[in-house]
Amino acid sequence: MASRTEWQFQDRGSGPAYKQLVVVHDDDPENAAYRRLMDHCAACRTCLTVNDAGEATNTCTTAEQRYQEYRQARRGTAAALPHAPA
Ligand SMILES: [Zn+2]
Repeated sequence: MASRTEWQFQDRGSGPAYKQLVVVHDDDPENAAYRRLMDHCAACRTCLTVNDAGEATNTCTTAEQRYQEYRQARRGTAAALPHAPA
């Protein structure tokens, strides 16, 4: 199994995301979903569009869909952990 470490944006639930160094396993569904999201955003003109203040406009429906898939994958991973809160 290929694994490595990389910086990823982590979701707080509210407020801005933060970056955290994580171990990545390429065959993990959560990381696969995250990779699809990042690969899309790096190549998508809509995702790279910013307003006059330099802020992302976040108008890409594909990115939103992939983000929701990533969140779904995270919930699935968390539910499988023995120490996850009920
Ligand atoms: Zn996009």
